[in-house]
Amino acid sequence: MCGIIGYVGSKETDVTSILLEGLSKLEYRGYDSAGIAVLGSEGNIKLHRRAGKIANLVATVEEDVTPELSTLGIGHTRWATHGRPNDINAHPHPDCTGGLTVVHNGIIENYAELRIELQQEGHSFQSDTDSEVLAHLIERAYFGDANHDLVLAVRTALQRVTGSYSIGVVSNEHPDLLVGARCAGPLIVGIGEGEQFLASDIPALLKHTRRVLILEEGEVAVLRPEGVKLMTLYGTEIEREPTTIDWDTEAAEKGGYPYFVIKEINEQPDALRRALTGRIRDGKLRLPEMERIEHSGLLKNIQRIIVVACGTSFHAGMIAKYAIEKWARIPVETITAAEFRYCDPIVGPDTLCIAVTQSGETADTLVGIRQAREHGAPVIAVTNIVSSAITRLADAVLYLQAGPEIGVVATKSFVSSVAVLYLLGLYLGEQRGRITAEQMSEFTGALEILPEQIQRILDHANSEHDSIEPLAKRMADTNSMIFIGRGVGYPTALEGALKLKEISYIHAEGFPAGELKHGSIALLDEHTPLVAVATASHVYEKVVSNIQEVRARDAHIIVVATEGDERIRQHADDILYVPATMEVFSPLLASVPLQLFAYHVAVARGCNVDQPRNLAKSVTVE
Ligand code: GLU
Repeated sequence: MCGIIGYVGSKETDVTSILLEGLSKLEYRGYDSAGIAVLGSEGNIKLHRRAGKIANLVATVEEDVTPELSTLGIGHTRWATHGRPNDINAHPHPDCTGGLTVVHNGIIENYAELRIELQQEGHSFQSDTDSEVLAHLIERAYFGDANHDLVLAVRTALQRVTGSYSIGVVSNEHPDLLVGARCAGPLIVGIGEGEQFLASDIPALLKHTRRVLILEEGEVAVLRPEGVKLMTLYGTEIEREPTTIDWDTEAAEKGGYPYFVIKEINEQPDALRRALTGRIRDGKLRLPEMERIEHSGLLKNIQRIIVVACGTSFHAGMIAKYAIEKWARIPVETITAAEFRYCDPIVGPDTLCIAVTQSGETADTLVGIRQAREHGAPVIAVTNIVSSAITRLADAVLYLQAGPEIGVVATKSFVSSVAVLYLLGLYLGEQRGRITAEQMSEFTGALEILPEQIQRILDHANSEHDSIEPLAKRMADTNSMIFIGRGVGYPTALEGALKLKEISYIHAEGFPAGELKHGSIALLDEHTPLVAVATASHVYEKVVSNIQEVRARDAHIIVVATEGDERIRQHADDILYVPATMEVFSPLLASVPLQLFAYHVAVARGCNVDQPRNLAKSVTVE
């Protein structure tokens, strides 16, 4: 989960500022603590570590009266898995000599036995983290080798480790060397002139370079001011051309909005357009990404589909179930990835697995999909991040092309994931001969105007006629809210509830509208507002009946309805209108006012919308 940053250069420079600035771009990845290790002028490693946000670390560093120039350093922002989020558990972790330090993202699963082994050999541990074993393992290999070869020591140490990691390692004996390695956690090398960078994610590098090398599983990167070498854990050198990143710095910054989340909500029309770009032309669907899997014949015998995903992506998967079943008439099951892996799933060559993960690094999804592959299931990945881990497990990859999503909660990546899953559903429907050319042109036409329709919702919300922010302010003191919907309105309700709880900490639950009366309606009273997704659909009347059942319990009713629906006024206290679209596409419109509602409630409650408590983006642990 955490964020890693590293620097090595030929000329002395303000490495501390480079690291702190890089960490600030990665803070969304974890904010339990932050720390840096910089090579000092006397050949010592200077360590600064503080619990809490990066601002605490910055304050500590500023107290240091002897800031100095350097050539080498590493930094880390932590999302704790082992050990409390305090100063001592903050990374970087030193070895016994203090000359060697390590930052780590992931979990060392066999850390307990390694720790005992190392303690028995006399190593002394300072923290409760799993990560600290890495520092001591590397120390043992390093000082056990007469040549003090740091790269070899890192490789040797990692061969003892099971679990997941991205790491950065520096030693005071090697002022011109930064070592990185990755196994099931993201790590990127940024290539500069006479200087090199290591980072968990692209935004941390954009200020310095656009040329990057993306590390693959089991690879080690050796960064020296004059160049970068990649190799396997066993020392075999790897040739790889750098990739050029075309995201602009602006895209990775807040762009004038108070929070990334609201910026990203407002970017949804563009994100959606990019998801559709090149994939729809003249009323026809074009998914060149599917050519290889199609020619391989892997899709011919598909009898069922399983969508594997977590959190917001899981809701996108639930929407996909409705769309794919409708268009392709293939049974679809959507399973939360954390359960999929351990439920002994029945999968094989006749089961197409669709993995949905914004980051492409979600550990639960990766392990589940790896297992499905072992059983021969073809895999399609839907992800935002080029060359992320999931892409290497997949037979086909459909990229969201949503650009960086910095806010911890998913907004634009949700809209893009749903859109890409629609395209996949249409593709499968077409392959099965169940969608005529005329229908395809109708569906793609409706999809193509969705960005414009979302823009209308946003323009209205950004105007003086906005009713969402005033409503949110009125609801800000609520303790609990219920969200309901039917058909595709149900996952939309779930996503609306998830957004609200994630960023405002108001207890919120989503239910299928018809299910409420079978138990959960007991929760409702005049203090528990209800949000109903009642956009135009074949189950509209049923949803209206369910709203009436709730109204009889004096709950405040907020309805998301389709423009022109005047009848709903008699059943609702507040209405959030969205433009009309085909029923199957309605979640893309209905979820926008629900995102805005959650955002404004959170702001009214004084919550840190970009970094909600206990959450981190890209959950790279199981
Ligand atoms: N497992 C490590 C820890 O708890 C690293 C967690 C992270 O990825 O931030 O410190």
